[in-house]
Amino acid sequence: MEIDGSHKILIIDDEKPNLMVLNSILSPDYTVFIAKSGKEGLSRALADQPDLILLDIIMPDMNGFEVLKVLKASEEISRIPVIIITGLDNDVDEERGFALGAVDYIGKPFKNAIVKARVKTHIQIIDQIRTIERIGMVDGLTDIPNRRCFDDRFAMEWRRALRKRQPLSFLMMDLDKFKSYNDTYGHPQGDILLRAVAKLLSAAAKRPADLAARLGGEEFGLLLPDTHGDAAREIAENIRAAVEAARIPGAGGKAVTQITVSIGVITLVPGEKMTPEAFIAAADKNLYAAKKSGRNRVCFA
Ligand code: GH3
Ligand code: MG
Ligand code: MG
Repeated sequence: MEIDGSHKILIIDDEKPNLMVLNSILSPDYTVFIAKSGKEGLSRALADQPDLILLDIIMPDMNGFEVLKVLKASEEISRIPVIIITGLDNDVDEERGFALGAVDYIGKPFKNAIVKARVKTHIQIIDQIRTIERIGMVDGLTDIPNRRCFDDRFAMEWRRALRKRQPLSFLMMDLDKFKSYNDTYGHPQGDILLRAVAKLLSAAAKRPADLAARLGGEEFGLLLPDTHGDAAREIAENIRAAVEAARIPGAGGKAVTQITVSIGVITLVPGEKMTPEAFIAAADKNLYAAKKSGRNRVCFA
């Protein structure tokens, strides 16, 4: 981890001297925000999305336990770790803080070095969790989003399209005769080809909401929110032609290789009666039709 000031810490405390001391300890290493009440703290947490919160317990109006409860119940901020920092130095309150979801508990008066060390530990944990989450969403071979990432985004885009009555398009792609490509050029060369195709697909995902993913093996998907059928078919045809035209250098700069792709396209405005599973199955059916009718083509129905 690098302590480069990029991590944001929110300190919620009603006493000015505390805020000042904590701010002076942490601001050399972090971007510090301060809030002088529980209410202000919650709205700052929502607005600034800090990486970590230091929370005082004894405050007028809304005490720290109440703040913690509201925070943990709010989807947008519930995952922000909270360190309780308080003069309430007894086991019962400490236990209560942990039970409400705090990650750590520091008693007042505190030693500056201890606050610094504990904050650093939690920032490191946060970074590690983020790395793991990112790795879990990215395909290791091609470095593009993986199936899990696709499933998450698809569920989200489906709901959005349903709500907004917008069309959703999806391209399901499968490389043609990839088994024989592997057999001819070897598995490592197959991997090189998969990377090249992934790159090409990512380039086809032009809008911020578009998502190109490796769904498994030699199967890829391109999700196109708010995209009509005509546009989706044109994108599919462009991808098909680009894959056909691509010349992938063989390992060691030897033979130049080629591949083709079959693509099934589906577009619809999600309705209450249509299930997301049926939507994907329809794309799969069109892909199967593309394979059956000779490969290297786009099918929609
Ligand atoms: P079709 O045109 O009907 O799709 O035929 P195909 O040969 O492409 O389909 P099949 O499903 O029979 O074979 C897929 C091949 O993809 C078999 C498998 O070895 C290969 N494959 C799957 N994942 C990887 C991978 O990560 N790297 C490499 N090199 N090959 C892979
Ligand atoms: Mg195939
Ligand atoms: Mg396959």
